[in-house]
Amino acid sequence: MKNRKLLMIPGPIEVDPSVLRAMGEVTTSHVAPNFIESFGNSIELMRKIWLAPNGQPFIVAGSGTLAMDMAVSNLLEPGDNALVISTGYFGERYKNILATYGANVTVLQAEIGEIVSLDKIEEELSSKNYKLVTITHVDTSTGVLTDPKSVADIAKKYNTLTVLDGVCATAGESTPQEAWGIDVVLTGSQKAIGVPPGLALLVVSEKAMTVWKNRKTPVQNYYGSFTNWLPIMEAYEERRPSYFGTPPVNLIRALEVSLNLINAEGIEHRVESHLIYAKAFRKAIQKIGLQLVPKREEIAANTMSAIFYPEGIDGNQFRKDISEYGVILAGGLHSEIKTQYFRVGHMGAINKSDIVATLSAIEFALAKQNYSFTLGESIGTFLENL
Ligand SMILES: *Cc1c(COP(=O)(O)O)cnc(C)c1O
Repeated sequence: MKNRKLLMIPGPIEVDPSVLRAMGEVTTSHVAPNFIESFGNSIELMRKIWLAPNGQPFIVAGSGTLAMDMAVSNLLEPGDNALVISTGYFGERYKNILATYGANVTVLQAEIGEIVSLDKIEEELSSKNYKLVTITHVDTSTGVLTDPKSVADIAKKYNTLTVLDGVCATAGESTPQEAWGIDVVLTGSQKAIGVPPGLALLVVSEKAMTVWKNRKTPVQNYYGSFTNWLPIMEAYEERRPSYFGTPPVNLIRALEVSLNLINAEGIEHRVESHLIYAKAFRKAIQKIGLQLVPKREEIAANTMSAIFYPEGIDGNQFRKDISEYGVILAGGLHSEIKTQYFRVGHMGAINKSDIVATLSAIEFALAKQNYSFTLGESIGTFLENL
């Protein structure tokens, strides 16, 4: 019997076999011609997938949190005002990162399952001079999807930079960075980008690079400083070797393979598939009486879902039964509702059968606890809605 389990959590995710094979290729020198080509190609592919032809990509060893850290530590100076639009756990994280770099932080907190209204955001941005505003595209703790374009439109009016935490969204939710005028779109390799964990990925607008160049004080971050990494990105893009910190050669080769897959499919098509699968998945879940954490369909993420356990279901037992069935789902993350819900990742290189398998595991675990529903109904609903 195969003992590999289907990994359906909001990162790490199921990785395409060709990406995994790339991870296993012989480790080369970081200045070997084949690696220089992979690195340079990955930088160019990021601009295409981010839809930011004039942006500056950065590929640095680290997790998504490093990408969050690099974005703001390079742009902020001590005493600058920063606004956090929080839809859950990762808004809280941004507040802590910003505070570490001496920013004056204001948080606009949405209630659980909701977004912050544009009126509130405009009222705050107009009240004082904000250097930047952070937005979580999909907050992985609530499954809430925000609308970065509308926030960016307001931010531009007040000359405030926008930083989009796309860690659970980029390559799964529509984000034409340049058309929407977002200054930084950042992610980690293990979410919708479809690579094992270990890479911080950012694309920075020309405007934000100018803000960084015109800083009056040094960046309060050594490893993550653009001063150290920009020459590296420029060199590899020109197909020249360079060194600051040893790049994770196997991971970057895997990134190249995954970005190529996304690019060959077309980013618009990739995003559209996420939308189609997610919509049908939500209908399926709701058909058997389960409720989503996001309060409205329009603000439900297409890369993942946060779902309340029905009355009387023991969550730990539920996830244990699902795991024994062969699927891994995640528990709650938001501290206020942690034990009341579970999370399903449906992003990256997944297919219809992966979602059908997930629904069947959910039904299996619900049936085991004598939850009252018609067996097979969620799967039927998913198929009908594709
Ligand atoms: C996963 C995630 C992060 C953190 O990424 P790590 O790779 O775990 O550091 C940040 N923001 C969001 C929205 C995430 O989903």
